[in-house]
Amino acid sequence: MTGIYSTPNPVNERVLSYAPGTPERAALKAELESQAETVVDIPLMIGGEEVRTGDTVPVVMPHDHGHVLGHFHQAGAEEVQRAIDAANEAHREWSRMPWQARAAVFLRAADLIAGPWRAKLNAATMLGQSKTAYQAEIDAACETIDFFRFGAHFAEQIYSMQPISDPGIWNRAQYRALEGFVYAVSPFNFTAIGANLPGSPALMGNTSVWKPSPSAMLSNHYLMKIFEEAGLPPGVINFVAGDPVAITEKVFSQPTFAGVHFTGSTTVFRGFWKQIGANIETYRSYPRIVGETGGKDFVIAHPTADVAALKTALVRGAFEYQGQKCSAASRAYVPKSLWAQLEQPLVDETESLTMGDPRDFSNFVSAVIHERAFEKIRSYIEGAEASDDAEVIAGGRCDDSKGWFVRPTLIRAHDPRYVSMCEEIFGPVLTIHVYDDEKWEEALELVDTTSDYGLTGAVWARDRDAIAHATEVLEHAAGNFYVNDKPTGAVVAQQPFGGSRASGTNDKAGSMFNLLRWVSARSMKENFVPPTDYRYPFMEEA
Ligand code: NAD
Repeated sequence: MTGIYSTPNPVNERVLSYAPGTPERAALKAELESQAETVVDIPLMIGGEEVRTGDTVPVVMPHDHGHVLGHFHQAGAEEVQRAIDAANEAHREWSRMPWQARAAVFLRAADLIAGPWRAKLNAATMLGQSKTAYQAEIDAACETIDFFRFGAHFAEQIYSMQPISDPGIWNRAQYRALEGFVYAVSPFNFTAIGANLPGSPALMGNTSVWKPSPSAMLSNHYLMKIFEEAGLPPGVINFVAGDPVAITEKVFSQPTFAGVHFTGSTTVFRGFWKQIGANIETYRSYPRIVGETGGKDFVIAHPTADVAALKTALVRGAFEYQGQKCSAASRAYVPKSLWAQLEQPLVDETESLTMGDPRDFSNFVSAVIHERAFEKIRSYIEGAEASDDAEVIAGGRCDDSKGWFVRPTLIRAHDPRYVSMCEEIFGPVLTIHVYDDEKWEEALELVDTTSDYGLTGAVWARDRDAIAHATEVLEHAAGNFYVNDKPTGAVVAQQPFGGSRASGTNDKAGSMFNLLRWVSARSMKENFVPPTDYRYPFMEEA
């Protein structure tokens, strides 16, 4: 196997249209039908073996919560320990495997998803997480494929970064896997994040215990099947669902715990950080702590903004996937002069959005993920209805009789620091504050100081000075900053994703920076002709 191999040049996976008459539409419809008629038994995967504990939880369609898609088995303390042991055991061989062989596993997984698995993974994401065909395609298929193809390419770039050498010396950098296992904990809202959290450490030679979200079990189960079919050796990624608190406690008590790769809410991540800190003397090395968490993502319009395009950005940015994207627009600042032109068309368009079962392709939105989310979102809407500081100007209706449906909702906040301008709701709710045109400067200040987060944000203006000024003032307000665009839809290798402040460690998923967190470099110096005399020339007599 001698040769200096380079990975295939990656390009972003093309998003298929699913327009009437296309083959992808026919394949997806057929998969949706067959998956809706099947009840899947979802085991744990430990050391390459399917493990069934019998302690099961149903997996339902959020848009039809009486419809059971499957049952997943939950791990107890014993299975968690077995998963940790399996990850430790697989570490030696996997971390020593040539990096090209590891990359090939993920490149094959990408091609399996692009081809034979595409419809199946998208359909599972649509039924289990209530995404429309388009939202499933950009997530489950395209983003996962991009993570793997670009990941292999970035890994090659990292391994190629080598030091300079003086004459007679050869310096080398080895990018070792971490000395221990990684704990990957994923959220419900992106199948691609489920793939990437255990996937990117594995690409760099690490093994992991992966705790998927209980609300994304069907698609995540298929991801494990894809890893297996792609040739991932047993024990490299161990799939362990169950009580998150108990699993986490067990993982954090292990001396070989070497890092956590998390995406989810801020509170959970802060809890992780504290627990790891409290256990720091237990560990063989300082664990890598990588977490992408919540957001309160903004759109600020200058009086020179294009109103028609702004309206579309607000509707897509706030309501696609029911606002359940960490990047979703959830607070907007609009000047009075524009509001006069924007209000009615925005209200009309919001009221016109089609909502229902994602198997009906004419729907633009569907249900929110579970009952807890439904109740939380409803309480913010009811709070706005009862408040003097805000009013609900569109949507607001909630109905959980069949699925957890919340109509896309617009709240107008008279108080710019009204609660729904500050807190992450994670649902189809956009709160708007209308400011006096001459108070642009104050509005920027409000954007910067109103919430604890710093994930995504957008400025809308035709005036170049206004764009430049907003870009400067809002330097730390968003890790992904958009000009005349919606704040959602980041693409791997184009807009590496992540934010700071309370939004996370900003290690930029979908970039080389993230992969760097999963290696620990060893600097090696070799001296070809070492000296044989300890004396230096300066010590000689003149
Ligand atoms: P969540 O925090 O409820 O769950 C995330 C994961 O953590 C799940 O696997 C869950 O089982 C686990 N978990 C929950 N409580 C835990 C506990 N006490 N101890 C250990 N593990 C626990 O989040 P979610 O509802 O799945 O996802 C929504 C959140 O994720 C939002 O806050 C959103 O902003 C954030 N998110 C951020 C990004 C980003 O890139 N910044 C991307 C997607 C989602």
